[in-house]
This record gives sequence, C-alpha cells and structure tokens, in this order.
Amino acid sequence: MKTKFNTKIKLKAVFMACALFGTFSLNAQDEHDEYKLLFIGIDGVRADALKQLMDDDMIPIMKELFATGTYTFDSWHLGVTSSGPSWSDMLTGVWENKHGVTNNSYTGSEYDDYPYFPTRVKECRPNAKAVQVTSWSPMSDNVYNDGWDNKLIPPTDDACALAAVSQLIDPDLDILFVHFDDVDGAGHGNGFNPAIPAYMNAITYVDTKVGQVIEAVQSRANYGSEKWVIMLTTDHGGTGTTHGGNSDTERHIWWVANGYGIPSMEITGADPGSYQFGDTPDPELIQSTPVLTDIAVTAIDHLIPGSDCEESHADEWKLDGKSWLDEGSLYVEGNDFEDALDVTVYPNPNNGVFDVVVTSIDNVQTELLLLDVAGKVVYRNTLAEFNSYSKLRINLQDYENGVYVMQVKNGDKIVTKKVVKH
Ligand SMILES: [Zn+2]
Repeated sequence: MKTKFNTKIKLKAVFMACALFGTFSLNAQDEHDEYKLLFIGIDGVRADALKQLMDDDMIPIMKELFATGTYTFDSWHLGVTSSGPSWSDMLTGVWENKHGVTNNSYTGSEYDDYPYFPTRVKECRPNAKAVQVTSWSPMSDNVYNDGWDNKLIPPTDDACALAAVSQLIDPDLDILFVHFDDVDGAGHGNGFNPAIPAYMNAITYVDTKVGQVIEAVQSRANYGSEKWVIMLTTDHGGTGTTHGGNSDTERHIWWVANGYGIPSMEITGADPGSYQFGDTPDPELIQSTPVLTDIAVTAIDHLIPGSDCEESHADEWKLDGKSWLDEGSLYVEGNDFEDALDVTVYPNPNNGVFDVVVTSIDNVQTELLLLDVAGKVVYRNTLAEFNSYSKLRINLQDYENGVYVMQVKNGDKIVTKKVVKH
C-alpha cells in the first residue's frame, strides 16, 4: 500500500511540473496569448431564413449573439457561391483571383501565396495553436499551408460539436474553426427556402450545436482572463435545391461577431456587385459594405491587435478584406495606449453624423484629424484645454460616402480609427 501511495504522489508531482513548465514557456514567447477566436461556419444559411427564425424565437443562441454583438444581414458575396471558393474567401481574406479556388475540387489553389489566416497569425504569434473541425472532407483534404495544428473530420455535425467541445478544454488553444454542414444538406435535399420546414428545422437544430460550443468556451478554466471573440457566418444562401449562381438569395448573406471589444450594433450595406458573370464590383462600395474577405482580416485584427508585425506584413500579405474591429486594422503607435489614450467613435458605420469620445491620462494638447481615402484632411480640431475626457460631434454629411481614417494625437501617442460613412 505504501509503495503504491508514493508512486501516485510522484506521478502527480511530475505532471504538475510539466504543466507549469508548459505554461511558463508559452507565456514567455507570445505577446497576444490572451486573444482567442472561435469561428463557427454554418454552410448554406440564407439571410432571410435566419432572420425569420430569430423573429419567431426559434434560434435563441444565435439571437442572443446578434442582440449583444456586431452583426450584418448585408454581407455580399462577390464570387462563386460554392463552398470551396466561399470558405476560401473568408479564411484567406482574398478573392478567387488570388487564392485560385473556383469550385469544390480546390484545383488551382494558391494557398502557398495566400494561406488561411492562422498561417498569417503565426507569422506574428508563432506559438498560436489553431484547430479546424469539419465533416466536409474536401476542406480538410484539399487545403494546405492552412496553419491548423490539427484537422479533425468527425462524421456528423453532432460529432463536430462534441469534438469542438473537447478541443476547448485545451488551455493552449487559440483559434478554433468549427464547420457545420447539415443545413446545406437539408437545402439540397428539400430546398433552400424559409417556406421549407426541413430547411428551417435544420437551422433550428444547428442552433443547439452552436450553444454547446459556446458553453464550452465559457466553461474554460481561464475564461475570465481570456479575450474571446466568437464569429459566426455562412458561405452562401441558395435557390431551389442548389447554389453556385448569382441570385440575391445566394449572394446576400450575414455574419455576427460577439465578445471582447465588440460593440452592439448592426452594419448595413448596399450590394457592390460581383466579380462573376463579367461584372465589376463598385470599388467604393466594397470599402463600406461587409463582404466575405472581411472575415479573415477581422480575425487577424483581433488575434494580433494593433501589432507592428501585422502592419509590417501588409504589403506582402496583400489582403483584400477590411477589419470591422473598433481599433481599426492599421496601427496604434505609442505605449500602453489602452491606459493612456482611448478613442471611441459611434455610431460607426454612420450616416455622416457621429460622436468621438477621447479619454487620456496625459493632460497635453490633443489633435484630431480626419482624412479621406486619398489622404486629404477633411476635418481638423485641437483640444487645447484637454482634461482627460472630451466629446465631439462631427458632421460629414456634405462629404462622400466611404471610409475615412481618424487620427488622434496626444503627446507622443497616436490612435488611428476607421470611420465608415454610408
Ligand atoms: Zn451546398
């Protein structure tokens, strides 16, 4: 008995030493370790179907994500509305002319030059741990240089949810992509349409799977000190029992982001057009409307926030999407900006009239500049007697719709924000 007891103690001591050593080595290496992302993709969910189920209180988990997060029902598809190209748009942050995927065979893919976003995150956070869970084998077998440390292919959506839950026990996990495929199956079998009960039931059912995965995030041992963002979207809608074409019900989709630093707001946007069927999308509308390539760029922006590394790679990565996070996708200079200088713009996007709140601990002159996409100054203000809190209302109604960049300088600190007028 005595020997057995001692062995147990020793094993426990060794296990604890390993666990501690592992924790120390990780924390010492990566700057943004606490920033985590759960990306849930639900294949083939039409925006009007999702909206109707929310109005009818049939999908309480997703309804809550929308109610407390940033969301849009105006994410427009600019490419081929098939799963291979669509998920590639979202996971690489570039369009088909770069990632090369135009159908579900994934032939012609250029993932060495335009990889999935976890590969990009790891260029700045080398120890980031990323896992993909999907039952759809082409996305697992035909994609390379994707940055996943582990790719799981459970046989069903139920099994995918359970696999995701078990992955979320891992304290070192940073990025989890979970893909649910059964709604698309229900659409192909019965019709992609809010009037088809089998299609609507499939969406109602996947809401419970989303709930399981989110509960696992919230049950993590270190959840209180981690900065999680949950992103949820679809790849395309459908028409009849198919998709792949250019109709509004295939192209007009939705996404929601919820979690650390994400305000509660709706983003709306006009259709910029498509790259398909000889069309050329409106370049200005692409800058103000949510589109699929924004997903990867927003994910990167959350996982390496305000990072010099992200900025230094911008030319090489050639991302097409834009970030919707409040801190903007470009850069923040100066040290400890969160404590020393904080700038909030709301509403954003807006119709040209918006408020800017600047808080700072340094009682020095603060300069506020607003530039258009061409770099021309359209607004300037100096807060001379600045005492830690200032609120300004800015009116750009006489200016064109589009993206503006706001720069707030306070001493040696600079904060840059993207302001979208539409
Ligand atoms: Zn499909």
